[in-house]
Amino acid sequence: MLTAYIAHPLRGDIDNNLKRVHAICQQYHAQGNIIPISPLHAFGFVDPTGPQELVLKYCCELLSRCDELWLHGDWQKSEGCRMEAEHADRLGIPVRFMEAQSGTCDLCARRKPDCQYYHGVSACKECRDTHKQTTERVDQASKYLFLQRLEATK
Ligand SMILES: [Zn+2]
Repeated sequence: MLTAYIAHPLRGDIDNNLKRVHAICQQYHAQGNIIPISPLHAFGFVDPTGPQELVLKYCCELLSRCDELWLHGDWQKSEGCRMEAEHADRLGIPVRFMEAQSGTCDLCARRKPDCQYYHGVSACKECRDTHKQTTERVDQASKYLFLQRLEATK
């Protein structure tokens, strides 16, 4: 079983957005091996037109317990969805684009089916892996320089 956090805009067109998320969750539910976790459902008791600070904290907490984050709808236009994507990215939780519009890698400009949200861009697996390796090499290099400097001060 995979727990998928379903990110979808709420404000703007609350009634229709709730209906859409409801249908999305039903689809995943019907597959039998996915537990769709919808914050719009989970925190339906919170007034969506009121202050959102506390409920955004709830969302981040709930998200940190899920296996993946799945982006739906016009998520780019929703401050909450963008925050969720960034939060999952920081935690190393895979963030998947579930709607057709985002299948192109922003880094190599190729159309790839495995593109995921990665540090604010859409990146294919190859580019994500390359970047991770590069970052690791940079980390190792700066560690080496640090140790050298430490040795020199002795
Ligand atoms: Zn790429």
